[in-house]
Amino acid sequence: MKWKGRQGSGNVEDRRGMSGKGLLGGGIGTIAIVIIIYLLGGDPSGIIQNASQTPNQTETEYKPTAEEQELADFASVVLKETEDTWTKLFQENNKTYRCPKLVLFTDAVQSGCGSASSNSGPFYCPGDEKVYIDLSFFDELRTRFDAPGDFAMAYVIAHEVGHHIQLLLGINDDYESMRQEMSEKEFNKMTVRLELQADYFAGVWAHYAERMNLLEEGDLEEALNAASAIGDDRLQKQNQGTVTPDTFTHGTSAQRSSWFLKGFKSGDMNGGDTFSANVL
Ligand SMILES: [Zn+2]
Repeated sequence: MKWKGRQGSGNVEDRRGMSGKGLLGGGIGTIAIVIIIYLLGGDPSGIIQNASQTPNQTETEYKPTAEEQELADFASVVLKETEDTWTKLFQENNKTYRCPKLVLFTDAVQSGCGSASSNSGPFYCPGDEKVYIDLSFFDELRTRFDAPGDFAMAYVIAHEVGHHIQLLLGINDDYESMRQEMSEKEFNKMTVRLELQADYFAGVWAHYAERMNLLEEGDLEEALNAASAIGDDRLQKQNQGTVTPDTFTHGTSAQRSSWFLKGFKSGDMNGGDTFSANVL
């Protein structure tokens, strides 16, 4: 992605080097929210750990390496690009876009959805409208998930912003309200639809990044590869050797990459109805 020299976002909260442990407890909505905030379907217990400890925030001056700072700058530029794109798309649909914040943290963080460790992977908290990311996840993306490239990282950020779009469009409320009436198996299927829509929205953003000539050769493939790399079927095969579709929460590799691609091709923010489409 051609990002160097482009403007970064004013909505980045740099909390690197701050201990997120032992801050205020989980707060309202923790349980309701944990299920929908994972990119990778990580360990939900990570998000509410330390909730009972007393406030004890420590701050040490964080000195990022040159590479870490470059990643932070990159994330800031990607966020800004999403802000510009979604502001314009919302305007065209007679809506007002409210920018989410992007919180950079190391190891653990206190979010509006409870405290979370880096193990949970990047997540979006609807309670405070912030995307949380430990930039070390991008190393994991490259090495553990075999999804290298800057546009793989841009996809991850754009996917989390996609969850913010869902909140602003009221899709999140609809989803939450269904929770009570459904079995876990049914609710997992709704979660897959929600996640695939976030992939679709990431693709919509990428469509406009392409139009602005920000994509380089191989970028689209990097995003598609990342979307497949974190498909439930692939992850389950890697982690447990078998695949159990009833427990999928994010969609298969094929579904994730195809919904991203649909968004990328159309650029239509209203064209990603994964809830009525025959995706499962
Ligand atoms: Zn997600």
